[in-house]
Amino acid sequence: MARRVIWWIRRDLRLRDHPALTLAWQAAEEVIPVFILDPAFARASPRRRAFLMAGLRALDEELRARGGYLVVREGPPAEILRGLMVETGATAVFAEGDVSPYARRRDAEVASWLPLIRIGWPTIHPPDVLVKEDGSPYRVFGAFRRRWESHPIPAVLSEKAIPSRWRMPTELPSLPLPAVRTPEGFPAGEQAAWERLRVFVQGDDAPIFHYRALRRRLDGEGGSRLSPYLRFGMLSPRQALWAALEAEARAPNAESRRSVRAWINELIWRDFFLTWFYAFPDLRRRSLRPPREARPPEKDPRALEAWRAGRTGYPLIDAAMRQLAQEGWMPNRARMLTAFFLSRCMDIDWREGERWFLENLIDGDPAVNGGNWQWAAGAGLDPLSALRSFDIIRQARQADPHGGYIRRYLPELDRVPEAFIHAPWTMPEDLQRQVGCRIGRDYPAPCIDARGKRKERIHG
Ligand code: FAD
Repeated sequence: MARRVIWWIRRDLRLRDHPALTLAWQAAEEVIPVFILDPAFARASPRRRAFLMAGLRALDEELRARGGYLVVREGPPAEILRGLMVETGATAVFAEGDVSPYARRRDAEVASWLPLIRIGWPTIHPPDVLVKEDGSPYRVFGAFRRRWESHPIPAVLSEKAIPSRWRMPTELPSLPLPAVRTPEGFPAGEQAAWERLRVFVQGDDAPIFHYRALRRRLDGEGGSRLSPYLRFGMLSPRQALWAALEAEARAPNAESRRSVRAWINELIWRDFFLTWFYAFPDLRRRSLRPPREARPPEKDPRALEAWRAGRTGYPLIDAAMRQLAQEGWMPNRARMLTAFFLSRCMDIDWREGERWFLENLIDGDPAVNGGNWQWAAGAGLDPLSALRSFDIIRQARQADPHGGYIRRYLPELDRVPEAFIHAPWTMPEDLQRQVGCRIGRDYPAPCIDARGKRKERIHG
C-alpha cells in the first residue's frame, strides 16, 4: 500500500459513490484532495464559477468534519501536480475521467509526466463502451438507448469505502477560495444535492410520479432542478438513477411508473450527449449534420440582441430569456422553445445561442448544451431532430396556458388578458391603452413573423 496519493478534483465534487476516490483510499493510507484553479478556465461564466466555488467550500466543510481539508492551488495542472507530489511524497494521482476535448488533452499531458490513474466517468455507463459493434459512435438516440439498456446498471459504491477520519498531511499551503454569492435557488454541495433528490423522489405523492404530466408545463415545477448538481458531480448520475428505480418500485400506479421512466429517459439523454462529445469533440463548433437546405444562417445582430435580451415580442420566448438572465437557469421546455425560436424561426446560427446559454447557465455543460442545441436546430445527427414543423404560439399556449410563467418574468404584460397573453400585438389599441401595454412602446412588436413558412421579417 502506498503511503500517500492525490485525489485531483475536477467536476466531481462529492465523497460518495466516487470510483476514483474509493480506489485512492484502497491504494493509500493518506489521500490529499486537490482542486486546481486552472488558468484555462479564468473566463468561465461567472455564475457557474460562483456555483463551483460554493461547491468547493461545501466539500471543504465535509472534509474538515472528517479531519481533512481541501488543498487549492492555481496554475497549469501538470506543473501544480508535479510540485505537489514532490512536496508531499505522494506517489500517484487519482481522478475521474472527463469527456471534453480540453479535459482529455489536459489529462493526456498530465499522464505523460505523472502516474495519473483515471477511473469512473460523469456518466452512468462509460462513454467508451456505449458504441456500436464496430466501435463507431451511435448517431441516433433510439439505438443508443437500446445499447444503454442492454448494460447492467452499475451499483452505487458503499459509503464505507470512504473513511470517517480523513488522513492527510497537516497544514499544506492552500489558496483561499474566493468569496462568492451562491446563485439563488441553488445552494451548492453534496448535502444540498441529496436534499433536492430526496424531495423529488420521496413520499407516496413524490414529484417524480407527476413528472410526465408536468414537465412540458412552464407554469409549475415539473423537473427535479438537479442539473447543476449533476453538472459538477455533487451527485453521481448512478445515485440519481437508483433513487428513481427505488421510487419506481413503490410507484402507486401505472402513470407514476411511466413518469419515473420518463425521468430516467432524461438521464439517458444526458449520457447520450456526453458520449457524443467524447466521440465528436467538435460538437460545439460544427453542425454534425448540416441542414438539407444549405442556406447560410442570418447575420442579424439586432435580432440576436432582441433574443438575448428577451425583447423579441413573443412573450413566452422573452419570459424564458429573462428567466435565464435573472436566475441562470430555465426548465427544459423553455430551453427547447427558445432554441427552436432562434435557430428555426429567426434563422440565426445555433452556435450564437449555444454560446449565450453556456455563458449564462449555472448548469452549462458544453456536451449537454451543444448536443441539445444541435438537436433543436435540426443540425444533429438524429433525423427526428430535423423536423421543421413548429408553431410558436401553439407551443406557448400548451406550455403556459394561463400566462402565469409569462407574467412572472414580464411585469409589463401583467394586466394583459389571458386571451391575448401569447400574442399581445393582436390586442385592439384601446385595450392596449387600458391595460397599460402599448405594443412598440411598453412591449416590443414581434421581431419576426414566426408563423410564416419563409419567416418574413417584420422588425418592430
Ligand atoms: P429533469 O427534467 O429533472 O431531468 C433530470 C436530469 O436529466 C437533468 O438534471 C439533466 O441532468 C438530465 N436532462 C434532462 N433533460 C435533458 C436533455 N434534454 N438532455 C440531456 N440531459 C437532460 N442541461 C444541462 O445540464 N446543461 C446544459 O448546458 C443544458 N443546455 C441545454 C440547452 C438546450 C437548448 C436544451 C433544449 C436543453 C439543455 N439542457 C442542459 C438539458 C435540460 O434542459 C436540463 O438538463 C434541464 O432543464 C434541467 O432541469 P432539471 O434538472 O429539472 O431536469
